Amino acid sequence: MADSTQMRMHKIVDELMKNRNIEPGSNSQKIVDLYSSFLKRKDGAKSLLKELSQIKKIKNKRELPSLIAHFNRLRVNAPFALWINVDSLDSSHYITEIDQSGLGLPDRDSYLGTDSRSRLLRQQYQNHIEKLLALTGVQNAEQQATDIAAFEVSLAQIQWNSIDNRNVLKITNRLTIQQLASISPDFSWPAYFSAMKLNLNSAQLNVRQPSYLGNLNQLIHDTSLATLKEYFAWRFIDNYAELMGDDFATEEFSFHKKILTGQMKAVSEPDRALELVDGLLGDALGQIYVQRYFSDQDKRRVEKIAMNIVAIFREKLHQSSWMSKTAQKEAVAKLGTLNLQIAYPSKWTNYSNLFISKDDLIGNVMRASEFLSQTEIAKLGTRVDSSHWESTPQTVSGNSIYETNTIEIPAAILQEPMFNRNADEAVNYGGIGRLIAHEISHLFDDRGRLYDHNGNLHEWWASEDVANFSKKCKALVEQYNSYEPLPGYHVNGNLTLSENIADNAGLEISYLAYKLSLADKPSSNIDGFSGEERFFIGYAQSMRVKLRDETLAIRLKSSVHAPDSVRINGAVTNQDAYYQVFRVTPNDLMFVRPNQRVQMW
Ligand SMILES: [Zn+2]
Repeated sequence: MADSTQMRMHKIVDELMKNRNIEPGSNSQKIVDLYSSFLKRKDGAKSLLKELSQIKKIKNKRELPSLIAHFNRLRVNAPFALWINVDSLDSSHYITEIDQSGLGLPDRDSYLGTDSRSRLLRQQYQNHIEKLLALTGVQNAEQQATDIAAFEVSLAQIQWNSIDNRNVLKITNRLTIQQLASISPDFSWPAYFSAMKLNLNSAQLNVRQPSYLGNLNQLIHDTSLATLKEYFAWRFIDNYAELMGDDFATEEFSFHKKILTGQMKAVSEPDRALELVDGLLGDALGQIYVQRYFSDQDKRRVEKIAMNIVAIFREKLHQSSWMSKTAQKEAVAKLGTLNLQIAYPSKWTNYSNLFISKDDLIGNVMRASEFLSQTEIAKLGTRVDSSHWESTPQTVSGNSIYETNTIEIPAAILQEPMFNRNADEAVNYGGIGRLIAHEISHLFDDRGRLYDHNGNLHEWWASEDVANFSKKCKALVEQYNSYEPLPGYHVNGNLTLSENIADNAGLEISYLAYKLSLADKPSSNIDGFSGEERFFIGYAQSMRVKLRDETLAIRLKSSVHAPDSVRINGAVTNQDAYYQVFRVTPNDLMFVRPNQRVQMW
């Protein structure tokens, strides 16, 4: 699906490139010019020197807040990121959030792991820093790389781990600017917010990891200004290296792709240019994608599947043997306010204030990043618009948003093998039906369940509901902990819990929804398979993927998804229907005893 979507987007761009009648200032002009500015880029290192010399000029740590704000506006998130999100305590409004960030390796644990793979990775990362610094003309690159790598380890040590970061109650911490100042007294927040062009007045903001900001204050205090400047320059180079000359591209590829993911083949120039356009002008490209590759007939068909999924979900909640009446009632109400977004948004991002030139790549990227940050910031103070999409229509993945009780099923995932226009509904319930049920389940998983029908975060379950639910979660955690897809590397049952719950519930509910669609008629036989068999086969086919060991190792540590093979087999072996449909016996490898199977709903 990712490949076919990419091919389609290339086709769109190629045709625009040939068009001689493109209106200046239109979305098409911006797509074409951003794309060509990447292909025509010259010595990018030179265009970065201005930014780097600004960092060099810094004489005092008091200048750091405005530097960090400048970075944040350019979407360089170091040493923290700032977002505008729907306020989880008042979901009709937006709130400013601060989140830990600023590491070059994929996650905090890569800096702290003592296994040989982590140690080797840190050495390779340090070499990578050294090589890129040398390419930008730094004289003592080796020394600087050592300092920067050591500083990032200290940063990792004060960051929260991924389990804590997934705990929505723990990362909900409302602070005023005065309280922020008392946590981190050396950091001038007023200077930072004014450079961010963010007027917070007396409003509170959400600080996901307050202790991180406190410890960061100390770390900055204890670190020499020289090292800090090296670190910030490095973060900038690391973020923009993709846009520089061939030497940079080769080194970027060898570290970020070869070493981190095991990918052997370099990404082509057109693919990289397309990725850039997709990231910065996503809606502009998406609008054309939808016009060209999506039919509203498919949308209606998928909506019909979704309706049956919701109907079964409602029935499950009504019939739940373990939920209290109050929780049941509220859960059904929550399903009633579900905001189901299929294919594409009703409103698109308006890029008219963004200037894109055909021969200024770095300038384009900086302006587009600023434009996107400013568009976010402009939401503050307005009422939440529930028709707003987080994903673009060409995103090949579903999405669920707790605060607005929304699921998004983008157009690009409504293609084979997830949705097949020419297949019968059994296969589609196994594919897209399962995905829709999976996304709805997220709104009721270990985190999503804490948001009520308005999207507000609070514990609305009775303590016995929580205890019953936790018992099921615990069984699922233990089940997944026991999977070992790479020798010595187990799945982390806690980290992947939400996804495993969603896979479990998604498969069960979509199967029942398929049965509902049959309206008591027996399923037809196609190519020797019953509809029930085709449902499970369609499911497995829609999820199949091949991963290299390097990618697998990184994902097992940092991804909230278990490897796909585990996801497929883990989900089916918990379904009684699977045993009946395929006549699985205790002698079969995938047999799980009935009392050990987990059924969420
Ligand atoms: Zn998911």
